[in-house]
Amino acid sequence: MTGDVTTMGVEDYARATPAGTGTAAPADPGKILIIGGGIAGLSCGCYLQMNGLQTEILEAGLLPGGLCTAWHRGPYVFDGCLRWLLGTDPSSAFYQVWTELGAIAGREIISHDEVMRIEGSNGEVLSLPADLDEVSREFKRVAPEDAALIDRLVRAARRCAPLEPPLENPLELMTHFEKMKTGLRYLPMLPVILRWKGLPITSYVARYRNRFLREALLVIAGDKRMSALVLVMVLGLKSRKNTAFVSGGSWAFAQAIAGRYGRLGGIVRYKARVVSVTVENNHATGVQCADGTVLRASTVVSCADGHTTIFKMLNGRFVDKKILNLYQSCDLFPAILQVSLGIDTILANAPHTLNLPISSPLSVDDTTRHDRLEVEVFGSESALCPEGKTVITVRLPTLYEFWVRLKKEDPQRYRAYKRRIVKDIIAILEHRFPGLAGHIELADIATPATFVRYTGNWQGSYEGWLPTPRILGRRIPSTLPGLKDFYMAGHWVVAGGGLPSAALSGRYVAQMICARYGRTFAAIVPEPIQYTTGMP
Ligand SMILES: Cc1cc2nc3c(=O)[nH]c(=O)nc-3n(C[C@H](O)[C@H](O)[C@H](O)COP(=O)(O)OP(=O)(O)OC[C@H]3O[C@@H](n4cnc5c(N)ncnc54)[C@H](O)[C@@H]3O)c2cc1C
Repeated sequence: MTGDVTTMGVEDYARATPAGTGTAAPADPGKILIIGGGIAGLSCGCYLQMNGLQTEILEAGLLPGGLCTAWHRGPYVFDGCLRWLLGTDPSSAFYQVWTELGAIAGREIISHDEVMRIEGSNGEVLSLPADLDEVSREFKRVAPEDAALIDRLVRAARRCAPLEPPLENPLELMTHFEKMKTGLRYLPMLPVILRWKGLPITSYVARYRNRFLREALLVIAGDKRMSALVLVMVLGLKSRKNTAFVSGGSWAFAQAIAGRYGRLGGIVRYKARVVSVTVENNHATGVQCADGTVLRASTVVSCADGHTTIFKMLNGRFVDKKILNLYQSCDLFPAILQVSLGIDTILANAPHTLNLPISSPLSVDDTTRHDRLEVEVFGSESALCPEGKTVITVRLPTLYEFWVRLKKEDPQRYRAYKRRIVKDIIAILEHRFPGLAGHIELADIATPATFVRYTGNWQGSYEGWLPTPRILGRRIPSTLPGLKDFYMAGHWVVAGGGLPSAALSGRYVAQMICARYGRTFAAIVPEPIQYTTGMP
């Protein structure tokens, strides 16, 4: 445990005086309203409750978790989020966060020595290992002519592998001394970060002579618009076995944090869509919900979609040039569609993540064509299906406007389009896994319209801001200019998004609110819960 973070083995800390203050807690500041019960909202709520502050989460939907969700279909759980969770290495800062939130204790952590298998159109295969020595060997096996570049890439990844966020305090609360100490911690990585951050991944891979390795590096980075630093970080973080799948997936993960929030005394009000934040004399004083309910608060934290929060709930009144620039011109993670299949057999020898080429491009809207498919394979150990069965998911970037418009204007064509894509994907998989089609018990497709309907994420983005050279490393403040008693958390305030960023940003906001009310922040590790059943 780090710095002044206090951990206790009890759950009902809410009644205790915060450790380290030496004085009783200040008078009760009153209720804090949190908009959105995704991972950021739940995290923020848990930490505020741990510190004796009373919170209520207002969630537009019917369930906790936001994008971190799954849907049950017959004997299968189709996971709509978790593929790899950062923070599964007990020495990591995010592991501490997950432990405090009760998110992973008692669940099996499933990590693989082979992170991903990438196949080429001419029969090439690259097996991406977690271990960096093996990465080096595998890359050089595929592309001996690029050995010098591979050495430099692996060296950079090794340097960045220990990168950890500070937990003691968010930057906003750090003293000069703490900032210096944090800076010193990052010093060994700084040359790598500075050298790689501004480099577009496409320019970087163009240096490689081997065509297949160029293609594979782009697959590993995930998006052609990314900074090359993302590739370095992915390789570095995976090498520490600090990323893995957690048995039970997103559903169990979100339920565990929601359970923790409830046991800490937090309340979630479902079907409570906030339409505006009430502002008096430049202080946020509450919210108004779609059903007309008006609620007052000492502080409002929005963990809902950033665009809706700033430009709808607050009418764009509290913005500056930086915020406008961010929302007008920075790239987002794309909208996606997800095809999930329930298979009544085991896919022996199939890697858990397989990226394969498609012989003729797959069309997923009126303009987007894909020439590769990434397939996730989950066996019963994932607790997403019973023994003897398999869940397969395929996710593909697509155009948000296309799907939303089609659903609204021509529901029949929307359904036909979905059926056609499922059919095409099954045909591709049948080609790669002969006989698979005969074992499909259930097929399901979620489009950007589905993701937006359930979570309201702007333009259907599945993770907020894309870490391009332009934005990676940029600080996005969790307060708005000119507005007091108001904070934002979640993947719209951290370039790169993801579950760890969402949870950490919620923790940071809780730290800021504690500081505002003169409380020393304390975080508590609960007693682990023993989960007895495999399937959630
Ligand atoms: C397919 C997919 C795969 C992913 N894979 C991974 C992965 O493997 N690893 C990883 O780390 N991350 C992954 N992510 C990203 C991760 O899920 C998100 O970055 C993270 O869950 C964001 O959490 P959040 O709390 O910031 O936002 P959200 O999950 O969007 O939560 C916001 C909540 O606010 C609610 N809300 C919105 N508007 C209102 C309103 N007006 N009033 C009240 N409530 C409102 C929404 O209903 C929602 O519950 C994936 C995402 C997707 C979609």
